[in-house]
Amino acid sequence: MPLLEVEDLRVAYGKIEAVKGISFSVEAGQVVTLIGTNGAGKTTTLRTLSGLLKPLAGKITFDGEVINDMGAHKIVAKGLAHSPEGRRIFPRLTIAENLQLGAFLRKDASGIQRDIERAYTLFPILGERRGQAAGTLSGGEQQMLAMGRALMSQPKLLMLDEPSMGLSPIMMQRIMETITELKAQGTTILLVEQNAQAALSLADHGHVMEIGTIALSGTGQELMHDESVRKAYLGED
Ligand code: ATP
Repeated sequence: MPLLEVEDLRVAYGKIEAVKGISFSVEAGQVVTLIGTNGAGKTTTLRTLSGLLKPLAGKITFDGEVINDMGAHKIVAKGLAHSPEGRRIFPRLTIAENLQLGAFLRKDASGIQRDIERAYTLFPILGERRGQAAGTLSGGEQQMLAMGRALMSQPKLLMLDEPSMGLSPIMMQRIMETITELKAQGTTILLVEQNAQAALSLADHGHVMEIGTIALSGTGQELMHDESVRKAYLGED
């Protein structure tokens, strides 16, 4: 059974249907990516999986349980973590405090400390600046903090919404390397990206979203070599 299975999911804002019946699954240990242009419904999909939006129809099964009607806190507790678009860190709290907040459902103090150290190993800049206000970090560093914070809940599935948004090419490279490293450590990841090239190059499977539907699916390699994907998303003529 896949870790996450999404079946015929539909989500609407009032009368406007942003997600119009999509199906896909994520196996444990995989990196799966949703790519597509602005407004395709990628963020809406992740927010629904997190319990922040209620589906209009369809079925979301996570780790053997239907989570359609589960509250957002319970979904995190069940092991589904979300690093949202635009980062949403707490700028006036320190980096260490932001990481602590990611563990708000945990009670194992020594395990929490071990995972904070792990975040500092993964992102050394966070360790160097642990006592400083998170708002002083650069955009890319804040993205690292958001990822580190999501990992603090010890997720079975980590959802990343546009981790490369607004980053310099070097920072983007660094974030993509970290995703590869997390994958090597066995983390299962659902990655939403506008940078199709970067996402497809490290994904096991990818789905191309277009105005609320999945237009095309395949392995990362298949999609990267697909002519229509190359034209639409990889900037080729
Ligand atoms: P982006 O990369 O720009 O976030 P996306 O693929 O993640 O794109 P969504 O943000 O999920 O797309 O948006 C899907 C559609 O839903 C768009 O047409 C958008 O305008 C609409 N939408 C998103 N949020 C709301 C909202 N709060 N109220 C009404 N419509 C919304």
